[in-house]
Amino acid sequence: MNIETKCLHEGYHPKNGEPVALPIYQSTTYRYDSTDAIGKLFDLSAEGYMYSRISNPTVCAVEDKIASLEGGVGALCTTSGQAASLISILNILSAGDHIVSAATVYGGTINLFAVTLKKFGIECTFVDADASEEELQKAFKINTKVVFGETIANPAIAIFDIEKFAKIAHKNKVPLIVDNTFATPILCRPIEFGADIVIHSTSKYMDGHAIQLGGVIVDSGNFDWKNGKFKEFTEPDESYHGVVYTEQFGKSAYIAKARVQLMRDLGAYPSANAAFLLNLGLESLPVRIEKHCKNAEVIAKYLNSCDKVEFVNYPTLEGNKYNDLARKYLPKGCSGVISFSIKGGREDAIIFMDSLKLAENVVHVADIRTCVLHPASSTHRQLTDDQLVAAGITPGLIRLSVGLENIEDILEDVKQALNQI
Ligand SMILES: *Cc1c(COP(=O)(O)O)cnc(C)c1O
Repeated sequence: MNIETKCLHEGYHPKNGEPVALPIYQSTTYRYDSTDAIGKLFDLSAEGYMYSRISNPTVCAVEDKIASLEGGVGALCTTSGQAASLISILNILSAGDHIVSAATVYGGTINLFAVTLKKFGIECTFVDADASEEELQKAFKINTKVVFGETIANPAIAIFDIEKFAKIAHKNKVPLIVDNTFATPILCRPIEFGADIVIHSTSKYMDGHAIQLGGVIVDSGNFDWKNGKFKEFTEPDESYHGVVYTEQFGKSAYIAKARVQLMRDLGAYPSANAAFLLNLGLESLPVRIEKHCKNAEVIAKYLNSCDKVEFVNYPTLEGNKYNDLARKYLPKGCSGVISFSIKGGREDAIIFMDSLKLAENVVHVADIRTCVLHPASSTHRQLTDDQLVAAGITPGLIRLSVGLENIEDILEDVKQALNQI
């Protein structure tokens, strides 16, 4: 099946006489005929739904759909993108371990890696993702256990060279995790370029309508957890009567462990109703993404021609330094998200933002409605000046998320707001 078809038909397959729409299984728990049957679930020797903190039929249908869209062996939904980032890392790393991450990643990811995970004894080195392989190799340490990057970095709109990072991660015998939130599997499937794990904030395009937070972790099934570096995968887990994940689950060891161990202990599993709504978003994702890309192209070109604009970050613009990477990784388009900097700096950026009539000033992005945000005074407020520069953020930078309104209306709004400066 092509991806548009998968968006509609994967995950849930109604049988004769069953409902066409994905049913909402609003139940915390599942009935079994015997104590023995439940005992087998706790030994992980039988498959089945145990409790809705770990799995639920509605959520699992959506997980199967997303796994199929990304080309993975399995997926695990979470209550937010942040929970997906956290669990994807904690499933591999413990105190004393080290992350190599691109510096151009979402502000919340930077805080998680640099501040909160540090308290758990996990260190992170942020690297310039555009550096050469030799330069990047210097960031690796004996305790490095994972490499992390974002397909289209929020809000720098930098494109992550997935193949380059997969190669260097694998040379160091560690997996590559890619946050594919902005691209979505419609525009890019990082597993095809060597990524081992893909995560998303489904709060963005996948949901698409700004109605609920969510996240997902997808396992490619390709990483060799038995290479000697990842003992939690190859040694008995005492909390499940000595189960060895690589033996019990084979190619799905990573995603099975994330579910039965971390989701059990951390409890960040979405509700059936949340999964139902996410599924609606997924059904129309391909048509929405295509239009977001088209509208953004027009707005990016217009902004690029304006005197009051210092620079525009949109990978397909002529002369943008990511032209080649965009052609390789995002041939169908680069999403609806643009960032650009106003010449007059912070003050004029705020005048522009406050003058918009159609575009909404919100803490959100990748939504059906056009919206704007000033990263330096909101999502990236906690970062130091050095971190801001490393993340590609200037004081006048505005993130504009182009929606699905008529392009003439969006253009007119941008024009009139620029005229107020
Ligand atoms: C929003 C976002 C996140 C965090 O997701 P939440 O659902 O808000 O927790 C992570 N990565 C990227 C790229 C994002 O845009």
